[in-house]
Amino acid sequence: MKNSKKKQFAVIGLGRFGGSICKELHALGHEVLAIDKEEEKVQEFAPYCTHAVQADSTDEGVLRNSGINNFDHVVVAIGDNIQASILTTLVLKDLGIEKVWAKAQNAYHQKVLDKIGADLVVHPEFDMGIRIAHNMSSERIVDFIDLSDEYSIIELLASDKLHGKSLAELDLRAAYSITVLAYRNEKGMNISPAPEDKIKEGELLVVMGHKKDLARFEEEGM
Ligand code: ADP
Repeated sequence: MKNSKKKQFAVIGLGRFGGSICKELHALGHEVLAIDKEEEKVQEFAPYCTHAVQADSTDEGVLRNSGINNFDHVVVAIGDNIQASILTTLVLKDLGIEKVWAKAQNAYHQKVLDKIGADLVVHPEFDMGIRIAHNMSSERIVDFIDLSDEYSIIELLASDKLHGKSLAELDLRAAYSITVLAYRNEKGMNISPAPEDKIKEGELLVVMGHKKDLARFEEEGM
């Protein structure tokens, strides 16, 4: 699907993680500046981006010359070289880039990136491990988003226990302190559920709450 609103992104580091971000953003129709210190990577990704530049991103002058200042969203996808990732993130924030997202290699790296002002730190292996564990532990959980250490939004399939009951009857806010934000039935997604709306088995529910309340709901309420 092409995106109608074209945005400008830059991806630094064209390994597996950065490379897939670069290709996907390009496929979605966005302008992508791709940077790697290895000429080979630059050649490989040239067909999948708008501009491919060979540069060492820890050098502020070099980064400035790449025109990165014109980009308001940059991903630092340097993996193994933690020092280069940290320095690059610092330089980008110094240059005034509004959104800098960075990939962390481990928990220590994640902490440092947070401290120096990365706007989002991702730890793909760790995050994916958690996601897979959730999917393994409950066949009903389709997806989830962590809002903080304590709160999440989960998408799950309604069980027969909920079938035919209205949201008012279920009163999940009182029973579990959780909120149904939306649900999807054959008519599509309803993002402003009404108390009288009845839930059917197999419908997708989007629910927000404290992790321990969500876990209790999955265990007892589903
Ligand atoms: P992944 O685990 O996502 O495959 P890698 O660590 O293998 O990540 O790849 C990171 C990429 O970042 C490599 O292509 C590497 O050449 C590039 N890279 C590392 N340091 C720098 C730097 N200082 N400037 C630009 N690119 C860099």
